[in-house]
Amino acid sequence: MRHKMNQITFAFLSVLLFSSCLASPPNFVLLFADDLGFGDLGCYGHPTSLTPNLDRLAAEGLRFTDFYSTCAACSPSRASLLTGRYHTRSGIYPGVFYPDSIGGLPLNETTIAEMLKPLGYATAAVGKWHLGYGANGTYLPTRQGFDQYLGIPYSHDQGPCHNLTCFPPDVKCFGFCNKDTVAVPLMHNKSITQQPVHFLDLERAYSDFATAFIAASAQKKQPFFLYYPNHHTHYPQYAGPETAYQSLRGPYGDALMEFDSTVGNILSTLEKTGQINNTLVFFTSDNGPELWRMSRGGNAGPLKCGKATTYEGGVREPGIAFWPGTITPGVTHELASTLDILPTFAGLAGAKLPQVQLDGVDMTDILVKHGMSKREFMMFYPMNPSEKFGMFALRFWNYKVHFFTCGSIKSSTTPDRDCDAPLKAHYPPLIFDLDSDPSENYPLSLVGRPDLQSLLAKILKVKAQFEASMVFGESQIRRGADPALVPCCNPQCSPKPSCCQC
Ligand code: MG
Repeated sequence: MRHKMNQITFAFLSVLLFSSCLASPPNFVLLFADDLGFGDLGCYGHPTSLTPNLDRLAAEGLRFTDFYSTCAACSPSRASLLTGRYHTRSGIYPGVFYPDSIGGLPLNETTIAEMLKPLGYATAAVGKWHLGYGANGTYLPTRQGFDQYLGIPYSHDQGPCHNLTCFPPDVKCFGFCNKDTVAVPLMHNKSITQQPVHFLDLERAYSDFATAFIAASAQKKQPFFLYYPNHHTHYPQYAGPETAYQSLRGPYGDALMEFDSTVGNILSTLEKTGQINNTLVFFTSDNGPELWRMSRGGNAGPLKCGKATTYEGGVREPGIAFWPGTITPGVTHELASTLDILPTFAGLAGAKLPQVQLDGVDMTDILVKHGMSKREFMMFYPMNPSEKFGMFALRFWNYKVHFFTCGSIKSSTTPDRDCDAPLKAHYPPLIFDLDSDPSENYPLSLVGRPDLQSLLAKILKVKAQFEASMVFGESQIRRGADPALVPCCNPQCSPKPSCCQC
């Protein structure tokens, strides 16, 4: 009898195991905009942006109102997104990487791509990397878990402007680029395929690469992870012939519209390949608008200041999750972050979490049940963080507390003088209720408010506990630069960098 029961149990377990093998893990498409603020999309209230495909994601998916990146600059924000950890832990500070930087995202950090690979995922990155290049391409995406890469390995203003033209080509780019460095390259995996890159054709190449990757993975019945960090909305914006002059908003709007068209191509490929109901598409942005570019810098909507500050405009971003049949359309006010994407993908795919101190929490309950966030707080460090100063600001529930504030030239030009004011310590700290005052205009007074006094005591305790757990990684950016490391398609040529053209 016992033998028979064992046989039945074994048969039942086999069926279960077989079913779970047949169940296909979800695909992930992660769209990451650049210097795009809370107020830049049509679905977040911009009156003249034309973003029909991103608006579709929001209308048919879940739109976050309280979604945060960790840092108001490109490289640190990207490090947090891909590792689920504050960039201070991985050493991505101060500031950002340059074409000749020696360092990069340390190879012993585990990226989302590396986490998914053991489960058989196909992985590809297309667009702006900005987590280091290094000697012999040490830090390129293909060394960080991505099977394939097509893109520019850093910001596209980190090169001379001569090839950064708008359509038609006689309209030169507006403002300043890094004139004395090498022309911006396009890389396929570890090889330079164009230098300088042809910006007016770039989006077609990105769109073709992304859709071919989805189609090939679907044909092989292989789950996939596509990471598309795009450049478009970072200054100086560019747009190809199909979108230039098509939006009422000017160059920023045209660039955003071109990116949006690729989102449309990705969605239609997911539909054509039958993957749309088995794919989580997530959209957010690395940091808020670069306000010193004025109308070409992006828009933070009702939020205060922008890029390079720890005010809301620097770090609070659009966040949209789309997964037909699994995510019910709606809006959530739950607190969430780029840090939470890695644990969420891990939970949905059944992947093993990296065995390191993670800062993200699984937000699946928010996505699939419109449930509550497991996140109670969010810390904000400046672009040049230090253990001496610690965090500059902390969000706890609906309250934002500033221990230090510091403006930035990158957020100057608006009438709000706090946006480029010097470093200032606040004791007692500034406290804002973001539910009633999202613009951080009216600090709350502690006088006669025992409820706020006890809240502040709790917040200070959370701050102390968190800072005791924060071990700053060795700065990868202070490792410095070596002119010999700049990507050059003709490595033996002279004089560099001007000879690096192919
Ligand atoms: Mg950026």
